Amino acid sequence: MKTIRFDIITIFPGMFASPFNESILKRAQEQGLVHIGVHDLREHTLDKHNRVDDYPFGGGAGMVMGVEPIDRAVQSVKQQSPNAHTILLSPSGRPFDQAKAWELSKKESLILVCGRYEGVDERVRECVVDEDLSVGDYVLSGGEIPAMVLVEAVSRLVPGVIGDETCLDEESFSQGLLEYPQYTRPRDYKGWTVPDVLTSGDHRKIRDWQKDEARKKTRLNRPDLLDDPPEGESE
Ligand code: SAM
Repeated sequence: MKTIRFDIITIFPGMFASPFNESILKRAQEQGLVHIGVHDLREHTLDKHNRVDDYPFGGGAGMVMGVEPIDRAVQSVKQQSPNAHTILLSPSGRPFDQAKAWELSKKESLILVCGRYEGVDERVRECVVDEDLSVGDYVLSGGEIPAMVLVEAVSRLVPGVIGDETCLDEESFSQGLLEYPQYTRPRDYKGWTVPDVLTSGDHRKIRDWQKDEARKKTRLNRPDLLDDPPEGESE
């Protein structure tokens, strides 16, 4: 049975209690498919105030998380998981996308380092972690929510975590397109009706409609995902 282990290093371990204790992630942990450890970075500090940050060399606004406690925390986790792939969550990292989620889902063990304040000493990226990943082109206050995003996106690709794995083939990004629109009952709500083709019973027509709609939606919301960009946008 394929299992995956996540070890998260953070100064706010309490943030993870509820999101990891509900729904699919809760069940996946109960089934032993996913293991999650949350580690308090402050337990790896050496000074009596458990300080994890300091002023940036060269000046500049805010405080920066130091390399020493992060390195010590990562090495401590690696005593249990020596082959763990280590990731720093960072807005300046490479984009985390569905292809990366598939790649990470094949690993046995991941360590996720959550930054705070103005960020993390660059030596963490250079010397401690294997890669740095961003969950989007915006800045959050900490790496905890990005770590939750990564854990959820990766876990659901581990065999057995999602009940019906055929849904993974049809989801957004799986075929390089966004997912087609979905409807459920009632067929007519306030005059807002479901497209007739979906209730026609003609499976071929339904499949063709779904493919067309997936392409239309992608062209509208994410033209960058298409091989043939809309007219006027090709180079
Ligand atoms: N000064 C940094 C910059 O401009 O790139 C931003 C630091 S941010 C306020 C603090 C921490 O939040 C980061 O070290 C990182 O761990 C996390 N973070 C914020 N936005 C993120 C994103 N889009 N993806 C991943 N992590 C993010």
